[in-house]
Amino acid sequence: MNFPRIDIDLAKTAHNIRQLKKLYGSQGIDIIGVTKVIGGNPIIADVLVKNGIKILADSRISNIIKMRRAGIKAQYLLLRTPALSQVQEVVIHTHISLNSELEVLKRLSECALRNHITHKVVLMVELGDLREGIMPSEMNSIVKEVLSMEGLDLVGIGTNLACFGGISPDADKMNELSSMAIRLEEKFKITLAIVSGGNSANYNWVTSSKDVGRINSLRLGESIFLGREALCRKPIPGLFTDIFTLMAEIIEAKRKPSQPYGQVYQNANGDIPKFENKGLMDRAILAIGTQDVIVSGITPKQKITVLGASSDHLLIDNTETNLKVGDTMAFDLNYSALLRIFSTPYIAKNTINQYECESIL
Ligand SMILES: *Cc1c(COP(=O)(O)O)cnc(C)c1O
Repeated sequence: MNFPRIDIDLAKTAHNIRQLKKLYGSQGIDIIGVTKVIGGNPIIADVLVKNGIKILADSRISNIIKMRRAGIKAQYLLLRTPALSQVQEVVIHTHISLNSELEVLKRLSECALRNHITHKVVLMVELGDLREGIMPSEMNSIVKEVLSMEGLDLVGIGTNLACFGGISPDADKMNELSSMAIRLEEKFKITLAIVSGGNSANYNWVTSSKDVGRINSLRLGESIFLGREALCRKPIPGLFTDIFTLMAEIIEAKRKPSQPYGQVYQNANGDIPKFENKGLMDRAILAIGTQDVIVSGITPKQKITVLGASSDHLLIDNTETNLKVGDTMAFDLNYSALLRIFSTPYIAKNTINQYECESIL
């Protein structure tokens, strides 16, 4: 088996999707499956679709193309506001896009018309997190314009919180989005099929709400794949938090001083490092580095201290563990680490367990 590699448990993935569908479904909320953290991996995307996910969303068109070429049948949604330079690809390769710029919408409309396609759009509303979104005061005029654009079908509105500014999608914010949906529907005599309240950070709001109003959609990545909500990163009861395991191999294990010796200058990362002198210690090196993973985002499953890393080497304190050359180590991952791993060709992607497996909790 190759190292480094990431083991992906498909049965646990299927379980998390079904649980989340049940949980959110009971409040009338449909789940859009967000595939960017798995780099649009078609085998995993297939598990999402086979377990009831109808819309797959990604921020990168190349990931969407990858899944479509692999024959994964879904509606594809582009999560990141299209760049003007991308509109042709957006219209051809995706069914729906999230939008916040009139200029882009005009070009999407022209392009859709030219290609005899109707492209669906969701307008993103700014509610305080200060990433993408139209200011609420401008919604009326933009909706009016979009409704007049041929080739576009306004299917919904949405918001994104807890990403840049760390602003909570609480009842106030969700009520604001809900009322806006109702107001727009009445004013323009339209039906918004999608009112998308946010992402994995919306868990606390949903589970503490009696009535979720007009919100009927969430775009979920982290909760599906890491089994956590994204406000405090607490595990969601009944979900697996260990779908993914990073495996790396030891290529050197020796007893060496704990403190580098000689003249101290910058290291590979441009830092001037400081190490405490604890005398001789058992150290080991794993064949993985900052080119492959975000070191701060990986946690050894065993109680082992990571000493640091350069581009291709990860150093650990081997005092308690006494691992040998050829031994392997397993790591848990956070969202950023997972994202990076699925963006690199240097880590093998290895699926384990079939998604058909039932009741594995
Ligand atoms: C990444 C992303 C999501 C998914 O966020 P998670 O916290 O992983 O659920 C949802 N919406 C948008 C616009 C995104 O960019």
